[in-house]
Amino acid sequence: MSYNRKILVIDDSTTSVVILENMLKNMNIETISANNGESGIEMASKEQPDLILLDILMPGIDGFETCKRLKNNHNTSEIPIIFISAKDESVDKVKGLELGAIDYIAKPFDIGELRARIGVVLRILELHEKNTALANTDELTKLYNRRYFFNIFEREVLQAKITGKPLAVMLFDIDHFKNVNDTYGHIAGDKILEQMGKVISENKYPLDVVARYGGEEFIVLMPQTPQKEAARAAEKLRSTIDQWQWDIGDKTISVSVSIGLVSMESIDSSDLSEIVQRADDSLYVAKEHGRNRVILWDNSSKAPQVQENIVSNSYSELQEKVSFLSEQLKNQVLKTASAFIEALATKDSFSGSHAQRVQKLALDIADQMNVSGELKERLATAALLHDIGKLGIPDRFLTNTENLSKQDESILREHSIAGVKILEPVGVFTQELPIVRQHHENFDGSGYPDGLKGREIVIGARILAVANYYDSLICPKSGIDSVDQEEATSQISAASGEKFDPEVVEALSQINTAKLASCVC
Ligand code: GH3
Ligand code: MG
Ligand code: MG
Repeated sequence: MSYNRKILVIDDSTTSVVILENMLKNMNIETISANNGESGIEMASKEQPDLILLDILMPGIDGFETCKRLKNNHNTSEIPIIFISAKDESVDKVKGLELGAIDYIAKPFDIGELRARIGVVLRILELHEKNTALANTDELTKLYNRRYFFNIFEREVLQAKITGKPLAVMLFDIDHFKNVNDTYGHIAGDKILEQMGKVISENKYPLDVVARYGGEEFIVLMPQTPQKEAARAAEKLRSTIDQWQWDIGDKTISVSVSIGLVSMESIDSSDLSEIVQRADDSLYVAKEHGRNRVILWDNSSKAPQVQENIVSNSYSELQEKVSFLSEQLKNQVLKTASAFIEALATKDSFSGSHAQRVQKLALDIADQMNVSGELKERLATAALLHDIGKLGIPDRFLTNTENLSKQDESILREHSIAGVKILEPVGVFTQELPIVRQHHENFDGSGYPDGLKGREIVIGARILAVANYYDSLICPKSGIDSVDQEEATSQISAASGEKFDPEVVEALSQINTAKLASCVC
């Protein structure tokens, strides 16, 4: 049975305790009890009940003294107390209420009246809890607000100091958020902040405390988290936000954040604002060095740790040059790789330009889904290269796909990873690699090589999987019958939510038939 409240009865009369326990049980309330003042105080501190029912005449310290001590202890001072006593003189009642009790009921009590009075106290308690929650919460993001965050922060720093356990804090800020407001409007900006609250809450560790620090700034406290893990969590959060499709009503857009991270293996400063200042300085450096990155505060040099050896004001210029050169390098590699891939098509007995057709369909789906221009570029390249790993697979596995043994199949499946191994050293395909690696992952987690599930699979790979499968139905390998456009779409719809992402399947079904019909072998 799960109770919704817990009440502590402090009374030396076993009969009273049993009567109260039965009554409370009927109200779905758990009873704990103590038969004297001292053990009652100890129990209240340990068990933190919602309410205390307190007798006055007891051996040892009496109820008045017990009440005084409970009210003077910061651990128990907030717990409401109702006196239940055979002392029914007015002076006793006044004394009890003056000591801080919320009510006073004379013994022998009427069960109905006592129930009603406990009900009133619990309703006040509920209201108080609701108000506290409201006062501590940011309305838009439903995260804690800055004021409440600092309450918890102070407690956790103290705790870390006592236990010697590590503690980390990350402060992050949405990149170019002013542009988002200027381009799509304030309402769209608000929608992103609202979703940001959900995304961070869903991606945090259970002990982490998340708050909205300011306008588009957030703070995450990670108690008991060693540096390595904190850095991993920060990077994971950055990349999740970067790949998320932020819904602004009529479409989705991309958003990134810059993160400043402070991680202390053991607390070296109890000054909360100093700790936040370190995170803020690191965040500033993250912004200066191109945004969409995590910068860690270096505890030994007492400065943000800068990975790249770049003078900050010439950074953008250099970044543009590097990006231009890598674009050129990408094109060169694509040209060379295309020749291999063409050759592969014959080996693989897929007809002609499988990669080009998959690329075209993937981009049509991407258009339908309103994805960002950056993602489309990544997808276009990854679609051309997705099968390049088959170059490393012996011919007989490619030409004869029927009657493959389990072992043969696992060799064929190696091509996703082999593709990554071929492309990785080139260095300019970092963004495309996850798409190539994951294009045979299934939405329900049954795919390969990593058995990723749902949004764990990058969106590019979820799109590519549909385009790739569609083409294998329309233009199959020699020896396999092709199906028509309608049948291909319906087979894919049937696997929505299992093999494929329902959103991608939906986008495929919305592409107009004439456009789809142009996907011919
Ligand atoms: P940077 O990458 O340097 O952080 O650029 P930025 O544009 O994000 O930075 P800046 O601090 O100049 O702008 C922050 C913007 O965030 C300005 C303000 O309009 C917007 N903002 C703050 N709070 C809210 C809010 O509650 N709702 C909306 N829609 N916008 C907000
Ligand atoms: Mg800001
Ligand atoms: Mg900003």
